Amino acid sequence: MAEQQLYGAIELGGTKTVCAIGTAGGRIIARRTVATRPPGEVIADAAAFFKDSGLALAALGVGAFGPIVIDPAAPDFGRLCETNKPGWSGFDLAGALTEATALPVRLVTDVGAAAIGEARAGALRGCRIGIYLTVGTGIGGAITIDGAVPPALLHPEMGHIALQRLPGDTAASMCRFHDSCAEGLAAGPAIAARFGKSLDHFAPDDPEFRLIADYLGQLCGQLVLTLSPQRIVLGGGVASAPGLVPAAHREMVRHLGSYAPAAVADEGYLIAPALGQDAGITGALLCATQAVRAIA
Ligand SMILES: [Zn+2]
Repeated sequence: MAEQQLYGAIELGGTKTVCAIGTAGGRIIARRTVATRPPGEVIADAAAFFKDSGLALAALGVGAFGPIVIDPAAPDFGRLCETNKPGWSGFDLAGALTEATALPVRLVTDVGAAAIGEARAGALRGCRIGIYLTVGTGIGGAITIDGAVPPALLHPEMGHIALQRLPGDTAASMCRFHDSCAEGLAAGPAIAARFGKSLDHFAPDDPEFRLIADYLGQLCGQLVLTLSPQRIVLGGGVASAPGLVPAAHREMVRHLGSYAPAAVADEGYLIAPALGQDAGITGALLCATQAVRAIA
């Protein structure tokens, strides 16, 4: 695809929505960030941004919060499921964007968009199979295969994988579904409830820090065993605590014992994202060209 062809991108987040225009290579040439409000207002903002640019766009890539139906073959493709965000439950996001912009719309989840960004232009580049994990207010994850997120029954729910609690850890799980899943034990709300402050207030040798590193190491170890990725990227607000990614890597290797391939112990196997805040919007932009193949 010609590099000069331009595409639109939208990263629909819980608090803010980023609109961008860029190239098939993922280079962003214009962007606008607006607060996420009821859907009609956000769609109007996005449509105005693309129209005001005066640029001809070939397609629109969208990374959206969920739950949302991303299978283009499904009758309710592009529709939000039940969500606590006012006005968004049942909203036909793909339909509304198609109508407002007259562009073909390619849709992935927000985590999927960030994963595609990292896979095509960031820390997962060169991996045939990669995993992008984000640890923040929840834990989300996506698998990338050759730079795309493969179609699935539902998006992966890696945050709800059950972990082995450490002896003496009797803290309540913050997941209302599971007593010992990764999200319930180690995401931001669990850390706040356990320690009364975020992880970046602790040093890597502190038991509090080591507990979370252990749990994230267990989670990554489970992903190594089930998916055998060539690399794992660990991002999100919690994972940005200094020292946490290497600590989780050490715990992952320890939990796997000598069973896993030696490559998983390599420095560079479990790493931080390369694109930072731009992973999602870059991925959404790349989806405009890439996801045709990924989800068709
Ligand atoms: Zn859970």
